[in-house]
Amino acid sequence: MSPFFETAATAEDGDLAILHLKRDTLTPITLRSTADDGYAEGAVTNTRFGSFPHSTLIGLEWGAQVRASKVDTGTRGRKGKQVRQDGVAVSMEETTTSPGQPAEPVAHLNNKRKSEELEPEARLEHPVPKKLRTASDRVDSTAVQRAAVATVTPLEAGSGFVHLLQPTPESWTSSLDHRTQVVYIPDYSYILQRIRAKPGQSIIEAGAGSGSFTHAAARAVFSGYPGSENPKKRKLGKVYSYEYHEPRVETLRKEINEHGLDDIVHLTHRDVCNDGFLLTTPDRPSPNANAIFLDLPAPWQALRHLTRIPFEEQVIATTTYLRKNGWTEIDMVEVHNRRMDVRREQVGLKNEGLRGVNASAATVDEAVFRLRDVEQKIGDFHASKIDRQLNAQANAAGAGGAVPNGSGRKVQSKADRLDKIKRDAEERKLYKEGNLVHRTETEVKTHTSYLVFATLPRAWNEDDERACAESWDVEA
Ligand code: SAM
Repeated sequence: MSPFFETAATAEDGDLAILHLKRDTLTPITLRSTADDGYAEGAVTNTRFGSFPHSTLIGLEWGAQVRASKVDTGTRGRKGKQVRQDGVAVSMEETTTSPGQPAEPVAHLNNKRKSEELEPEARLEHPVPKKLRTASDRVDSTAVQRAAVATVTPLEAGSGFVHLLQPTPESWTSSLDHRTQVVYIPDYSYILQRIRAKPGQSIIEAGAGSGSFTHAAARAVFSGYPGSENPKKRKLGKVYSYEYHEPRVETLRKEINEHGLDDIVHLTHRDVCNDGFLLTTPDRPSPNANAIFLDLPAPWQALRHLTRIPFEEQVIATTTYLRKNGWTEIDMVEVHNRRMDVRREQVGLKNEGLRGVNASAATVDEAVFRLRDVEQKIGDFHASKIDRQLNAQANAAGAGGAVPNGSGRKVQSKADRLDKIKRDAEERKLYKEGNLVHRTETEVKTHTSYLVFATLPRAWNEDDERACAESWDVEA
């Protein structure tokens, strides 16, 4: 079954995994415990945040955070121990295939700094291309295979980390090798709900392009219980996918197969504008699709093949065609997806006189409150110190000794402080948290086109009408 729908709890050898480097930077890898050229360390993924031998990823729970390892090329390996993020020590296989120094065991530093905070130079153990989006940038390139010759040595401070994720259509869309423009997550979410895609249905899509929509559609038409082969518990719909660019067809066919989607996605190499959507089996049956999604330069040219009985700028040409040929509920949509960054922001004090004392307070009220709070804390600290010293003196003097007076100050108890915090919150003294602000994030990937939706109603002839009326008579 497809790793997009169900996976074991841990990442296994051969699994497709997504390395989450940082937000919006993901890279897909296939976990390999043994590199193609036979080196036992397995493949190594080099990223801008450091190197990740697959031996340090296999066996981890999905979602695990993994620290980078230092991998030196051209050295001789030996048996050693490496410590994974979860603290489990795993042994390294011996390799003697490459001359050089014996390897040191892998050590994962307890480096709590975020990857983003690190100096870029510190991350670049093995320089990799800046963009990690094309196939040649992928970790399983020849360059990386050379790294697989490597032995693994202790990490230096400054190395980064990644998260190991199971694939989903969303993470695939964000990380796949873009051969074409793709349909992004906000658009396909909207499209799939508009066409009411659900388990067991058939959907036509053309052109398949890079397969972004294909994966999302495949998930939408599938439902099943993990691990169950019982057909009653599984609903496999179909995605009939068409693409006329042969190299794209070949790449997507390979991906569909590797992703276990052969049962769901039916990919055809075809120019749909000229040759339509009938399947290639001898009697050329119709896909009998419930819905169709056309992502083509000239969709109206393909529409003439989509009739139940025997169609100028993109949207106008398409809607004109649709109108003339009996489609109804024609609707055009443009999806504007905005991600809002919501955070508390401390604002500078407007009253210049108090700057420096309470630069982050928003109003004079808040500044005064803050001064009092600091004063109280300092007073409490000194009073409790004096009390401790006096108590120590009294203990030293023994039971009969004179008991000195205390500081005389009433130190706030924890309960008192909690009470005060609650009261302050009620009064909305939020100076510590700052004002709540939101900003629109600028770089959000979304589709650049207009979406046209339409319904092709069932055609009724006189006989159908009569049959329907008669059935009502019978029921009555
Ligand atoms: N929906 C795809 C995705 O999410 O990855 C992207 C589709 S891309 C924008 C358009 C694709 O349509 C291209 O790959 C192109 O080769 C294909 N195409 C264009 N005209 C076609 C035709 N007449 N028949 C089949 N495919 C066609």
